[in-house]
Amino acid sequence: MIGRFAPSPTGSLHPGSLVAAVGSWLFARSAGGQWIVRIEDLDPPRVIPGSAEEILETLKRYGLEWDGPVMRQSDRSPAYARALEHLQDRSLVYHCGCSRSELQRTASAPHGREAVYPGTCRDGLPEGKQARAIRFRVPSSTVTFDDLVFGRITEDLGTECGDFVVRRADGVFAYQLAVVVDDAEQGVTQVIRGGDLMASTGRQIALQRALGVATPSYGHLPTVVGTDGSKYGKREGALRLETLEEAMVSNTLAQALSILGIPGVRHSDPQAMLSDALQRFEPERIPKGNVQWIDPSPRR
Ligand code: GLU
Repeated sequence: MIGRFAPSPTGSLHPGSLVAAVGSWLFARSAGGQWIVRIEDLDPPRVIPGSAEEILETLKRYGLEWDGPVMRQSDRSPAYARALEHLQDRSLVYHCGCSRSELQRTASAPHGREAVYPGTCRDGLPEGKQARAIRFRVPSSTVTFDDLVFGRITEDLGTECGDFVVRRADGVFAYQLAVVVDDAEQGVTQVIRGGDLMASTGRQIALQRALGVATPSYGHLPTVVGTDGSKYGKREGALRLETLEEAMVSNTLAQALSILGIPGVRHSDPQAMLSDALQRFEPERIPKGNVQWIDPSPRR
């Protein structure tokens, strides 16, 4: 059993990622498995220098110890290129010449939902168009998986997103491809992450099938929202290392554990809290849906 936590170093750890870290740790450790950490620094313009190191330090502060070396996606381009070649050899991907504004104009998706790619370049680049992104041909059949928290989930990629991007117009490999290649390479057997990534799982399973790699089991945790009900952003309530006094660490950890269905864990030492939580962990108690984060005040 190998579980993982895969933060993007685009800022300090925030409550949603703390819940994902603790949740994936609990699932892995309660099964006697390994828990690894991978830094998803794939998208250079979004990476904030020093944030990977800060996230790793913060995890340690919370008593979360990982196994083995930390993989970084910025070192992994050759592996992503090989996977893309595999897909290219099988005609499972194609060049798309659509610009962002063209895609916006043709988007049929209702407000607030992701645009479905209409398949404009699926049968070849239309005259006069330049190759930009590379897209994966989604299968026409649905993808079904048994989520460890939400139960059976069925996704129809054709109507939910259409052919999705595996390499962007700027040459950056897309998250969906990188994560599948890395999970396979690292032998990850269980992916536990935030509910906001649920919509990516069908895409990742379709890619795993196309690449001939194993599909891990998946579980999605509650999406952490602020008091206004919207997803907790990186800027709000970031768990900044320099503000993490001991009391703040145990308050925030207690809240993360309570979100994961383990209320009332209290110790001053995070490691003691985690081992206590491990004894009491019951995946069935994890709520399905959004959970509100209440900022604990750092000094009281
Ligand atoms: N790097 C992604 C994030 O921080 C998570 C990827 C994953 O868990 O699959 O949102």
